[in-house]
Amino acid sequence: MQDVTNRQILDIPADSETIDTKIGGFQEAFYAKGNIAPTPLIERAEGIYMWDSEDNEYIDASSGPMVSGIGHGNARVAEAMADQARRMEYAYTRVARNRPNWDYAERLAGLAGPGFERVGLASGGSEAVDNALKFVRQYAVATGQPAKRHIISCQPSYHGATISTLAVSGDDAFTVFLEGFAQTSAKIPAPFSYRLPADHSRESYATACADALEAKILELGAENTLAFIFEPVGGLSTGCVVPPARYFRRVRDICDAHGVFLIFDEVLCGAGRTGKFLAAHHWPDALPDIVVKAKGLGAGYAPLGAMLAPARLVDELAGLTGCEFSYSYNAHPVSCAAGLAVLDEYVGSNLVQAAEVQGRAVRAGLKALQQRYPVIGDIRGLGLLLAVELVADPLTKAPLPAELKPTEKIRIHGLNNGVMLYSRATSGCKYGHWFIVSPPLNITDDECAEMLRRIDRTLADFCGEMEI
Ligand code: PMP
Repeated sequence: MQDVTNRQILDIPADSETIDTKIGGFQEAFYAKGNIAPTPLIERAEGIYMWDSEDNEYIDASSGPMVSGIGHGNARVAEAMADQARRMEYAYTRVARNRPNWDYAERLAGLAGPGFERVGLASGGSEAVDNALKFVRQYAVATGQPAKRHIISCQPSYHGATISTLAVSGDDAFTVFLEGFAQTSAKIPAPFSYRLPADHSRESYATACADALEAKILELGAENTLAFIFEPVGGLSTGCVVPPARYFRRVRDICDAHGVFLIFDEVLCGAGRTGKFLAAHHWPDALPDIVVKAKGLGAGYAPLGAMLAPARLVDELAGLTGCEFSYSYNAHPVSCAAGLAVLDEYVGSNLVQAAEVQGRAVRAGLKALQQRYPVIGDIRGLGLLLAVELVADPLTKAPLPAELKPTEKIRIHGLNNGVMLYSRATSGCKYGHWFIVSPPLNITDDECAEMLRRIDRTLADFCGEMEI
């Protein structure tokens, strides 16, 4: 293990310093220059560790953006992909079938359980969410309900970066971009659990948020309302909010009462990360009509997303018009082979159970840090999907001043201490600042302890700089 004390994050390697005068460049050429401090050039990775071009070691404490569920450098997955690529790399689904598609869909639907027999594959989360929205719209049109067109989602929320999925996401920062450009969804408040309106408990506020769904459906007209999409366990946009069980049951009842599809966006929280294979499995009496998954499905090895739906609905639509839209790369054989090998790892190494066990240990470690660092206002989440909310004052829960760029600073101090953190604030920071702790599910006890030590040092440096 490397000594990471007193390390200073290196500048972008020499190659890219002259990015203005060179053609090409890194993807970050498309990101804002002003608020991006140098990011390391990662050359190799194994398990929970990554190494940059200067051989600095980092613990991947958030699995990138909650992607690398089985850890880096898994030889079995790499071999399955290479094997498939050598044998048959591509067959287009409108004119041919491919066996990895069949095997993968059967395995994924088997793990998802009753109600999710059909698997529509995509190349990532945004595309899969877009597919789910198109599916319910196409179903409504094909079954003679063309007025059903309104989508309801939460404020804040995140459902992807295509135009349609940005339009159903809830983030004030997108408003100017979307206005007059895309059909945005109707919004209801997300069931936050930490900074609550006056006179509300976590439970009562969640119930009020569910009631807001019914009010919104009535306002739009049930006959015009197509679906409610939400993240059963929040991700970057809410900092891993977990609504109480009562919220799920109420939302399910409301959708049933008004004939509105309930879609769970499990792009981030699915694939075992919360301690169940589907996050929806935590609330079995409130299962959604459609569940969308990505990130942990491909686990970083292949771009892969999926919408899972009941055979009843998919087969009915297929008998009418079918889904009229598809992509050249859906059900790509190499992605399916990778996905199948990844599922084998989750099951064969008991990683879903590990998420629950290690999640408890990491949460306890973070709680211990909270005793020493008042800057930690809240720790929330489920399994190995945990958010640490940073505050100026734990009593008033006042957020840190946005102009101090807390999310960027914690990330940089993390890198200097050998831990890669994903931190975020949404809607121009109005809901607060948090970083996510969501390491690969195969993290060991010793690695958890080392990750927490590095987070401890990161917080010490962060508080030192912030003078708090
Ligand atoms: N939905 C949720 C809840 C997400 O967190 C994300 C990605 N952060 C997406 C959709 C979009 O997924 P992708 O980045 O794979 O397109």
